[in-house]
Amino acid sequence: MFIPDQTDSNAAIVIGAGLGGLAAAMRLGAKGYAVTVLDRLDKPGGRGSSVMQDGHRFDLGPTIITVPQVYESLWAACGRDFHKDVDLRPMDPFYEVRWQDGSTFTARQNTDAMLAEVARLSPRDVKGYKRFLKDSEACYKVGFEGMVAKPMHKLWDTIKVLPTFAALRADRSILGLAKARVRDPRLRMALSFHPLFIGGDPRKVTAMYALVAYLEKEFGVHYAMGGVQAIADAMVGVIRSQGGQVRHGVQVDEILIDGDTAKGVRLTDGEQIAAPLVVSNADAGHTYQHLLRNKARKRWTDKKLKSRRWSMGLFVWYFGTKGTAAMWPDVGHHTITNAPRYEGLLRDIFIKGKLANDMSLYIHRPSRTDPSVAPAGDDTFYVLSPVPHLGFDDPVDWARECDIYKAKVRAELEKTIPGFADRISTEMTLTPADFRDRYLSPNGSGFSIEPRILQSAWFRPHNVSEEARGLFLVGAGTHPGAGVPGVISSAEVLGKLVPDAPVVPELKVAAE
Ligand SMILES: Cc1cc2nc3c(=O)[nH]c(=O)nc-3n(C[C@H](O)[C@H](O)[C@H](O)COP(=O)(O)OP(=O)(O)OC[C@H]3O[C@@H](n4cnc5c(N)ncnc54)[C@H](O)[C@@H]3O)c2cc1C
Repeated sequence: MFIPDQTDSNAAIVIGAGLGGLAAAMRLGAKGYAVTVLDRLDKPGGRGSSVMQDGHRFDLGPTIITVPQVYESLWAACGRDFHKDVDLRPMDPFYEVRWQDGSTFTARQNTDAMLAEVARLSPRDVKGYKRFLKDSEACYKVGFEGMVAKPMHKLWDTIKVLPTFAALRADRSILGLAKARVRDPRLRMALSFHPLFIGGDPRKVTAMYALVAYLEKEFGVHYAMGGVQAIADAMVGVIRSQGGQVRHGVQVDEILIDGDTAKGVRLTDGEQIAAPLVVSNADAGHTYQHLLRNKARKRWTDKKLKSRRWSMGLFVWYFGTKGTAAMWPDVGHHTITNAPRYEGLLRDIFIKGKLANDMSLYIHRPSRTDPSVAPAGDDTFYVLSPVPHLGFDDPVDWARECDIYKAKVRAELEKTIPGFADRISTEMTLTPADFRDRYLSPNGSGFSIEPRILQSAWFRPHNVSEEARGLFLVGAGTHPGAGVPGVISSAEVLGKLVPDAPVVPELKVAAE
């Protein structure tokens, strides 16, 4: 276990103000550390931050909030009430899935409504769907309750769950499980696509991810009024109330190491900040490849990181539309439209690294729920298309491809929101190249290292660094992985690994 030097300071540095970094700072603040959070962006939240443009608020990343108890317990650990700081609204329906033949599937919390949807699409699959729900509950109990917020840096902790994993057929992919339970190809997609929201290929990601169906059913799908930025801002409020600092526009260039121990950081402008406890919320790949570049590494060498399977990249087009609030009444807050191909498209994205002409899209229309996101009468949208990351041999040249691809997205989107393009008043895009440059995300990937079974738990970069004493990792690239509940839980793991702050000499004197 990490034991801070009692004669040293109680300072802690968190590199990155992503949701994982902010949650880490809150946990450390609650333990008595004097925390400084450092982020290169101009506001908190990382991928969960937003941009204001011409009266529209573009929430850049996460939109779906699940398992609210993860936030409630984080706030409670700091002696606060999450619901006093953030206005969380349950969504009903959760989202709608659409296919090219015009058929749809509306996901809801109510099990009878879900059974009716399954029966409407494919009556013979109702029984299989009920079995899938049972699978989902079992996976939740083992995978979420049993592992997500638990330290997994000891190999034994992973080995001991293997018999249960084997019993749950975790060797099978989530798509494999869906195929075993239902026959309709549309339902197979609707039961297996969720790992795409954390960067995993449903053909390869373990069936344990069936747990998402259970956690959605039990705890709902929510939206934070003001977007996820409102959660990030509230986190900063808690950190400041604990006496912590959050500094923006500062980039860490290197983690300073003395022998085998982290001693602080040096910023790109040369400023050095000392602390016996350093937590990196920068991507695990960036942390090891760049911030520890001058240290000989035992496990996370450049070669090992290169050989990991990285999550897919994202093409995201954000736009505001003028005077459209009453248009497209059938398009709700969350819509997913399917390409004609499911598995073939996944293969293009994850295996071949090929930018396909067809695409499945996630359409976010927060203006259906949140008036603060657009001027009155207008709409704010984002449309997201999963695309290959930049780590393939012949990566997509986004400087050349962005407008061409956007035109293809536009043609596809016209099927769902006809006439939208003529009403666009403001817009911006993010491509994998922007993810690389804005978030320092290796390979421009959307969600760090892909959550395959042999890249999860002990196999993922550990929360307590394998490379330097006093260095810890939180966020998407470490255990348990990407997604907002995942990165918040990584900070809960941190809280279990780090003891309360030492009583520093100045404080001892003050107390006497
Ligand atoms: C488009 C999109 C949609 C998503 N939708 C959902 C969703 O609906 N629900 C859900 O649960 N999840 C969703 N996710 C996933 C989720 O947003 C992420 O997994 C999560 O926010 C990642 O948080 P993080 O703590 O790992 O850090 P990040 O958000 O990656 O933040 C890391 C921070 O570190 C900073 N940084 C990096 N290097 C340095 C350095 N050297 N010096 C200083 N600062 C540095 C970066 O600027 C950044 O602010 C989505 C993600 C995206 C991109």
